[in-house]
Amino acid sequence: MKILDNGFHSFKNAINSLQYLEKAKDQNYEYTLKEIIISLHHSVETLFKYIIKSTNEYLLYENVNDIFSQKSKNFIENKNNDIKYQTIKFIDAIDRVIILKNEKMSSKQYNFFITLNEYRNALTHFELETENKQIEHLIANVLPIIYRILKNNIPEFKEFVKNNNLQANVNSIIKEELNWKLKQHINLVKKIQNADAQIKYYDRNPKEKEKFFKNHNTKEKNISYEKCPYCNKNTFIRTDTIIIGFEEKIFSGECKFCGFKSSKENALFIFNDFSSYELYLNEYFTYIFDILEETICNENNLDKILELEEIKVLGQLYESNKEEIEDVFIQIVQKKVEELCEYFAEAYFNKHVNGYVEYGEEMLTEGSVSIDLSLDDLECDNELVNIINNIYVFTNGNLEFLDGKVQYSNEFEYSIIYPNPNWDNEDTEGPCYIQADYKFDSSNFWGAFDFEPYEISDDEDDDNNMWSM
Ligand SMILES: [Zn+2]
Repeated sequence: MKILDNGFHSFKNAINSLQYLEKAKDQNYEYTLKEIIISLHHSVETLFKYIIKSTNEYLLYENVNDIFSQKSKNFIENKNNDIKYQTIKFIDAIDRVIILKNEKMSSKQYNFFITLNEYRNALTHFELETENKQIEHLIANVLPIIYRILKNNIPEFKEFVKNNNLQANVNSIIKEELNWKLKQHINLVKKIQNADAQIKYYDRNPKEKEKFFKNHNTKEKNISYEKCPYCNKNTFIRTDTIIIGFEEKIFSGECKFCGFKSSKENALFIFNDFSSYELYLNEYFTYIFDILEETICNENNLDKILELEEIKVLGQLYESNKEEIEDVFIQIVQKKVEELCEYFAEAYFNKHVNGYVEYGEEMLTEGSVSIDLSLDDLECDNELVNIINNIYVFTNGNLEFLDGKVQYSNEFEYSIIYPNPNWDNEDTEGPCYIQADYKFDSSNFWGAFDFEPYEISDDEDDDNNMWSM
């Protein structure tokens, strides 16, 4: 088997098994997980080596220097001694592709490859023990990076994906992961708010605080407390640990003082995306910006995948970072509008102008066509409506800030070929101008969505003050 086919086969196997996993039970589930890790690991190793080989074959070997000195010795002395080749390992292949192909990746993303390798190694030594869909989350995270690198560097990859219908599967895996991340983040934000409120309560009631620590220090001696990742006091009880390979990666548990509580799923999310509580708590405030575009462009509407309580947390994040979040929303809608204008202009040209307009018709008298395109259709486009719906949910019914900000006006130029009677009906090329104008008007969307804005209570308003950046 050729190296390329071999790698592609494993990749396909991993994606298809991942789809099958949802239905698999008990032992079958474990076998399938095992198969997915082996296949994905093998495909990355094989295909990344293929990329390296197509740059320079010698870069596939661990000790390039030895090979050159042995080869040149053979060459000079006209001998044919065997040369020992040791090819590079999994992580070396990742490193070399990053450098050779200038493939950018964050340290977080790089860690997904390390973790994948750890799982693969763990499999060869002993049974794989995982809970809470650890492996599914890892794969959903590492997949987009693998996908990007293969697409950028192996010309045959696109065709392969198309022929095997893999795109839809990959998309659904990534989409589910995004929804999960959003839910975990919202859940943690809520828990941080509660912990904050608890700490403030103790600050206002120093006697209560004193009483808590008096009891805390005397009672429950048999329980071992650890430092709470949120309040830093020695009041945290660990309930679970996430282990990958032989290594303890992150823990879950609850703080008796501030009440900060991290479930195993919360912990897994933090480990995957931030690697530690410390980093998450430093960055969680701006994390929403990392996922804002994906969240808004989600083809599932936010009000369908989130509970009202969760939507309210988004609303609080919005209220406390209003300008910054609105700026991002404006950019997202503007980008989509520009894309759609271009699409509609081209569709109009192909459907009504090209091949339909002949010389002598009103439209084409001097070798050119000019059309004003009405873009009412734009607001019927599913993708745009979804985006506006999600913004509506996120902002609790506010769309007015888009008015006057989202607009587009452009003249698209195409060229048409028509039979020219002045030239014995010979084909002649002439320009066609299509003018597209769009101005966002929030009143066009009134009553268009299922979601009903909720009342914000005064308490919640008070709480929001501490949420400003
Ligand atoms: Zn605490």
